[in-house]
Amino acid sequence: MRFIDLRSDTVTQPTPEMRRAMAEALVGDDVYQDDPTVNQLEQEAARILGKEAALYLSSGTQSNQAAVMSWTKRGDEIIVSDGCHIYEHEVGAVAVLSGANMRTLHFEGGLPQPALIESAVRAQDIHFPETALICVENALSNGKVVPVDIMRQVYEIGRKHNIPVHLDGARIFNAAVSLGVDVKELTQYADSVSCCLSKGLCAPIGTVLAGNRAFIERSRKNRKLLGGGMRQAGVIAAPALIALTQMPARLAEDHENARYMAEKLAAIPGVVCDPSQVEINMVFFSLNKPAEIRDNLQRAMREKGVKISPEDQGKFRFVTNNDVSRQDVDQAVAALAECLR
Ligand SMILES: *Cc1c(COP(=O)(O)O)cnc(C)c1O
Repeated sequence: MRFIDLRSDTVTQPTPEMRRAMAEALVGDDVYQDDPTVNQLEQEAARILGKEAALYLSSGTQSNQAAVMSWTKRGDEIIVSDGCHIYEHEVGAVAVLSGANMRTLHFEGGLPQPALIESAVRAQDIHFPETALICVENALSNGKVVPVDIMRQVYEIGRKHNIPVHLDGARIFNAAVSLGVDVKELTQYADSVSCCLSKGLCAPIGTVLAGNRAFIERSRKNRKLLGGGMRQAGVIAAPALIALTQMPARLAEDHENARYMAEKLAAIPGVVCDPSQVEINMVFFSLNKPAEIRDNLQRAMREKGVKISPEDQGKFRFVTNNDVSRQDVDQAVAALAECLR
């Protein structure tokens, strides 16, 4: 049975072209930097993201953690939002791997508040840790996109206090497409940027990390320390190269499908959804229904051929992607309406 899978954009299958590229990839030992396909991917990533150099890593978590390791020393403090992936979804790795302290800030609605960030920067004092890094995310995991001007303001605070800014751009291309800007408009306001190729861009594996040459050299060594030095990685870099160079152009379709889905969902009695809030490929909604129905929804939808994530903090999240067509959206919405009847 073919399922319609709305759990995430990480569930995307590699395209037929990607599978061909895997089979035909030129490879070498990438720890010796001898893999021509990985080298090509890293060069393209640096060019597209507007940085001097780039590195191919096995996951977004590994990439963010290598970046934090490269920017900090033990006991340093990094400024993060309390909802960000680095803090919430990376198993506390910053404490384990970098020995750094996470200073969490709460931003109402998730958009970074530059003034709040600046107020969290530590003064020079024998008692205080040093603020070594500011982390921002774009797009946010709540489906919101951070405008270019806020990115710029956060970066200027970093410049003023001599603190690098790391951009967790797992979905940076979704953000750029949503804002209608070139991705470099966003990445220019970060010293390092991490970009997942394995989400909406459909690569089977991998994330690229970009920044200046010295930072990427440190990160290459930190990747090795993390057990992430790969050998004939060209077989996964080949589809990742297609993801990076060809797939961003089609993300607008996912965003349109998400907006369309939100409009359809909003029309179902009991569904609370505001289509105007949809900015990328994620639709959030709540259900005015008894807990029994909400708790059972994942199972009920699965029986109708639709995979969804369970309710989280009062909300459901449906994610569109390359494997979800407009017709699939209609079918999934119809399934939900039936489940709620
Ligand atoms: C998915 C994601 C990551 C990385 O996740 P991996 O599963 O480790 O590849 C990092 N940051 C954000 C915001 C993400 O959405």
